[in-house]
Amino acid sequence: MAGLACANYLHRAGRSVLVLEASDAVGGRVRTDLTPDGFRLDRGFQVLLTRYPEVERLIDYGALRLQAFRSGAVIRLPDGQQTTLQNPLQKPTAAFSALASPIGTFSDKLRILSLVRHVRNYTSGQLLSRNSTTGQTTLDFLRHYGWSESMIQNFFRPFFGGVFLDRSLSTAANFFEFVFKQFVEGEAAVPALGMQQIAEQLATRLPAGAVRLHAPVTHLNGTTVRLANGTTVEAAAVVVAVDGEAAARLLPAAGAAPALRWRRTTCTYFAAPALAGRPDKLLRLNASLTGLAHNVAFPSDVAPEYAPAGQRLVSVSTHGEHGLSEADLTARLQQELVAWFGAEAATWRHLRTYDLPHALPEYPAGQPARQSLKLTPHLYRCGDYAAYPSLNAALASGREVADMLLSA
Ligand SMILES: Cc1cc2nc3c(=O)[nH]c(=O)nc-3n(C[C@H](O)[C@H](O)[C@H](O)COP(=O)(O)OP(=O)(O)OC[C@H]3O[C@@H](n4cnc5c(N)ncnc54)[C@H](O)[C@@H]3O)c2cc1C
Repeated sequence: MAGLACANYLHRAGRSVLVLEASDAVGGRVRTDLTPDGFRLDRGFQVLLTRYPEVERLIDYGALRLQAFRSGAVIRLPDGQQTTLQNPLQKPTAAFSALASPIGTFSDKLRILSLVRHVRNYTSGQLLSRNSTTGQTTLDFLRHYGWSESMIQNFFRPFFGGVFLDRSLSTAANFFEFVFKQFVEGEAAVPALGMQQIAEQLATRLPAGAVRLHAPVTHLNGTTVRLANGTTVEAAAVVVAVDGEAAARLLPAAGAAPALRWRRTTCTYFAAPALAGRPDKLLRLNASLTGLAHNVAFPSDVAPEYAPAGQRLVSVSTHGEHGLSEADLTARLQQELVAWFGAEAATWRHLRTYDLPHALPEYPAGQPARQSLKLTPHLYRCGDYAAYPSLNAALASGREVADMLLSA
């Protein structure tokens, strides 16, 4: 996404660009597989937050036919009880004061209102670079703000732990404030035909031949780029738009000290019979620390083209290490789904499992929200690892590199 964004801005400004992509399609970590029986499987559960400033700047939402989840979640509490929070960040008093809601004290609800007001007072960029929170973890920030442990355990940990793929909430607090703002002001959505459509939209805006697939780069020598097939490409400037680990291989001497620690997730897909009634379009979150299933979503409830007619797609994510084989993980998840959704979940058909050990670069407290992108006068880098773990960061870093090249 970072490389495609950079290429789009350069192309718009009349520059000639060539994107060299190692894989068989564009998208990087934003890919969607179409199964022979018609399910669209994103490689890991992810969503587009519609108020991301960089996404709004670059992406045509209408062409993607974005389909939004409902704001809120069904939270499965440690005692097995399930509680529905609707609009918890957009209408906090209504959501948390619902009579049956066992989540949060009265003071917790007031704090939510205060944090909503706080994030509205700043731009996304200001929140990311706020000095007062850059040295704090999200957990420190929440405790310092005064939320009860039960509110942290039953709401913040499952909700934001799912976004960060980090249930310890050791992710930097400035990123938490940024993401909180996105949920307050926007929606979580997916393109009708899968997340990869976001990347495809950027690729199709480039001239024919400007994106070369199956073209892994093995070496860089000044402005000469060597491909695995032995050919070389010469350019006026080179932008390395790979993930942090590939960047460390391609740029060992450039001082591009990348974040090599990753957040891991797995995403297991099941096929279920189509829902009889109207879908609630809510995410299911697990507040218990013991279960493996951390969040469950029904993407086809939101975007029907994710499943063939008469069927429903179920996506189950786990975060962190579990050490299980795919077969054991699937069996354990299915048992947990029976506890969540009843006996019929035992009949759901396993479709595919994605194990993503390199899903998000870690973003610890104290790490700047933007690292240096210009390595030499003709060599640049971009990507989420050089900023913070989000699509917004990938697109922002690509745009910033294009701006530098255009003003050079
Ligand atoms: C499961 C999951 C859930 C996520 N959820 C969200 C979410 O809800 N919201 C959000 O904002 N973000 C989310 N993200 C993060 C977001 O997807 C990434 O931050 C973003 O896509 C990173 O883009 P990038 O361009 O920096 O890197 P990448 O996507 O890693 O792209 C790097 C590209 O470089 C290519 N490449 C690597 N080496 C070479 C080489 N030697 N030669 C040529 N090409 C090479 C790769 O094939 C790839 O296409 C999620 C990620 C995952 C995996």
